[in-house]
Amino acid sequence: MISERALRVDSSGIRKVFELAAKIENPIDFSIGQPDFDVPDSLKDAAIAAIRKGFNRYTLTQGIGELREKVLLHIEKTRKRKFSPDEVIITSGTSGGLLLALMSILDPGDEVVFFDPYFAMYKHLIRLLDAKPVIVSTYPDFRIDGQKLKKSISPRTKAIIINSPSNPTGYVCGKKDLDTVINTAREKNLLLITDEIYDGFVYDNPFISPAEYYDNVLILGGFSKTYAMTGWRVGFAVGNRELIAQMIKIQQYSFVCSPAPFQYAAVAALDTDMSGFRESYSKKRDIIYNGLKEHFNIIKPGGAFYMFPELKAGNVTDFVELAIKNNVLIIPGNVFSELNTNFRLCFATKDETLKKGAEILNDLASSYYKKVG
Ligand code: PMP
Repeated sequence: MISERALRVDSSGIRKVFELAAKIENPIDFSIGQPDFDVPDSLKDAAIAAIRKGFNRYTLTQGIGELREKVLLHIEKTRKRKFSPDEVIITSGTSGGLLLALMSILDPGDEVVFFDPYFAMYKHLIRLLDAKPVIVSTYPDFRIDGQKLKKSISPRTKAIIINSPSNPTGYVCGKKDLDTVINTAREKNLLLITDEIYDGFVYDNPFISPAEYYDNVLILGGFSKTYAMTGWRVGFAVGNRELIAQMIKIQQYSFVCSPAPFQYAAVAALDTDMSGFRESYSKKRDIIYNGLKEHFNIIKPGGAFYMFPELKAGNVTDFVELAIKNNVLIIPGNVFSELNTNFRLCFATKDETLKKGAEILNDLASSYYKKVG
């Protein structure tokens, strides 16, 4: 009964962690991929008010006018680039935007280039669509190598995806990385899909988007992380007009629209200052980075709420299992990578939990390194 397409996708890596985790009471949970704070009350009120006012029906496929306008203003202010009303669609989360974009550009056998470590959805969605993920390594420092990128481009390449700040590394692309990607995209006349869902969590340098410097882009963004609305399913895509038109058409026959009341809440979200959360997450980043840097090789994350430490010796699968047995939930690197040398740790949790978790991981690492020599 089940299609080859469905069977092609494998979620066993992450499932194993969750199965092991389910047996543990009160774990130190570094495995989640969402903020630990709740949606601000003002935004809950906006959603409830929208429901009471009767905004419970289908919206326009491309999203309500107020939100589209607001998103365009937000993009203009933060990306220094003006887009027009037919260059934006409100999607069912950033994931919805990603799926619609890939469905709009990919034929069987087409290729999409993205960087390792990567957000796992890229690889799986591309494969679901009978297309080919072409994965360019950025180990060990997560910087983008122009030579490797150029070599990865073929006549079948349809797009390059970048994700800064990154899940799972927290790496933030600097201007140099962006120039490398943009130069290749320009030379080969390629669409650049830029997944900017973590733009609200950038700690050291101002966030820069490739959309500022390159025309043929699709910006994917959303409300899930910045406003802790992961369950509300509101995101947006802004960019290439021709592509947006196709995405709207496919949304009409699939998601139909993003949930109506939450689109109204998202309008209010864009007027809500979340900088306090960003500052508190920057401190969390410091706590966990300083806590673990002696025992693991770590590129200090500049954004998002993930860190991707490398083991100094031994095998990640074994170490993750050991950590989970000792109450600390982390995810093996191969869920996000072609390699299995690192693990992902989400630091969106209480400061106390970060300190306690770091202590346990350090103790485990010391004894584990000794054991494996
Ligand atoms: N892109 C990246 C890099 C992510 O980490 C996530 C969420 N884990 C998404 C997109 C999707 O987020 P949502 O669909 O909730 O907007």
